[in-house]
Amino acid sequence: MTYPTARTVQDFTRHLADVRSRVAAAAERAGRAASEVRLLPVSKTVPEDRVRLAVQAGCHELGENKVQEAARKHRELADLDVSWSIIGHLQRNKARDVAAFATEFQALDSRRIAPDTARVRECFRLLRTLRDRARQTDPDLIGPGELSMGMSGDYEAAVEEGATVVRVGQTVFGQRATPDSYYWPPTSSRV
Ligand SMILES: *Cc1c(COP(=O)(O)O)cnc(C)c1O
Repeated sequence: MTYPTARTVQDFTRHLADVRSRVAAAAERAGRAASEVRLLPVSKTVPEDRVRLAVQAGCHELGENKVQEAARKHRELADLDVSWSIIGHLQRNKARDVAAFATEFQALDSRRIAPDTARVRECFRLLRTLRDRARQTDPDLIGPGELSMGMSGDYEAAVEEGATVVRVGQTVFGQRATPDSYYWPPTSSRV
């Protein structure tokens, strides 16, 4: 699958509208309200000038995977209304940096799964079951119990399986040059 690169505000507006309508359709198939699903555009590797266009097109929450890159963007785009989420593995020595500017941290599961859709869907289902169980047994610990699952290749399935947050990068911004293995240690994967 290739993802066209957004280079203008109009491109971003179109990509975002497309993702939102796909999220809405997936939610409807599952008997859910589209408003239950938060879209978190992931801007990693995208330079600041293009991130600005995305913000103009209405992205006010952005996800980043690397603390240094996120801190740099937070600084250089401080004039914009954006909250930053750090998604992925967090090194202990970076936790303080993240707390200084990010509004949210989403840890990454480390289950290796093929992007084979059926297996991915099973994992989504399992996560939802675990979340529901934790709500019963540890309601204080789990809080609102958001389920962040689904990326560009599988967010529609994730919404059908109960995701409350989808983290979508390439579908909004365009194809990334860096392989996913750069972001996830080879022994782990994501759901
Ligand atoms: C990059 C990344 C995403 C988004 O992936 P896309 O393929 O660009 O949609 C989602 N979650 C995490 C943790 C990521 O690092």
